[in-house]
Amino acid sequence: MDRNESKKIALSDTEQDFEMAKRKSRKKSTLTAKQRFRLIVLVILLTVVGAAAFLEHTGIVTFDDVMINAGLKDKPAEHADTEVHFIDVGQGDCTLVISDGEAMVIDSGDRDETNKAVDYLVSQGIVDIKYLIVTHPHADHIGEMSEIIERFNVEKFIMPKVTDDIVPTTKIYENMLLSLKNKGIKITKATDCELELGSCKVQLFTPKNKSSNLNNCSTLVKVVHGDNSFLITGDCEKEEEKDILSQDFDISAKVLKAAHHGSSTSSSAEFLDAVMPRYAVISCGEGNKYGHPHEQTVTRLGKYADKIYVTMNCGTVIFRSDGEGLSVETEKNTE
Ligand SMILES: [Zn+2]
Repeated sequence: MDRNESKKIALSDTEQDFEMAKRKSRKKSTLTAKQRFRLIVLVILLTVVGAAAFLEHTGIVTFDDVMINAGLKDKPAEHADTEVHFIDVGQGDCTLVISDGEAMVIDSGDRDETNKAVDYLVSQGIVDIKYLIVTHPHADHIGEMSEIIERFNVEKFIMPKVTDDIVPTTKIYENMLLSLKNKGIKITKATDCELELGSCKVQLFTPKNKSSNLNNCSTLVKVVHGDNSFLITGDCEKEEEKDILSQDFDISAKVLKAAHHGSSTSSSAEFLDAVMPRYAVISCGEGNKYGHPHEQTVTRLGKYADKIYVTMNCGTVIFRSDGEGLSVETEKNTE
């Protein structure tokens, strides 16, 4: 072996060592990156768990938590311009819809020593009501109508026309008519029509047959806001549901305010098949004498709806829509 050859071998040995050293070094650095990644994940997890424990301990609940707890599976509304409030008025109905600053009120709850509906509308800064709608003139739907008419600027008052033999003779009904007269507001007869409220389309559906039962004279109100829709059904029972189904109405809705406070006389399977609600709201008062909501109705609704909000348990329920996303907030957390 000459001197040059031995130098070559020596050089090649050195190169091999160098290559091995590089590989080792690469291997060592890959391992470190993995460890570093695991460490970062661990730190993030510990931070999240710690923050959640802190929030639970301090009782702070973020809107996201409420939303998750409230069971809504939709993408949240990021820039909501429309809100639908199912107001907890005890045993009765009262719904407020606000869209782009315009307000619509459907029913007013019953009359008692409190002014639940009026107080709630005031708390929401309502001054003008574009549409004030009576689904049907039973006391638990018109209890505070007189006060609402007196207190707010009502642009249009809509109510179904019923046959003379079932026109109510109650003091509540008479007071409502008197307030309308005092304010010079005409009654617009509810008919199948389409109205505009802010960025929403509002559709009214009425039964074609006259019924001797006031519940079955209920006007149905559908609010459509992009991908989100709400159907408010008054106290419509199976007889009217059949009537509505026999007509060419699109009653499908993402959120259904179940009729007649969750009574078993409403929300038939055929009707729910047409509505296909993803969420349902039942408005009723704790310890009501009717036993609302009836168990079989809740079970039936549960076959369609991912979540049923009962006002006697969760208080007022507010949906917010940006036309695509939908968020919900309940007054009380029931989870
Ligand atoms: Zn009712």
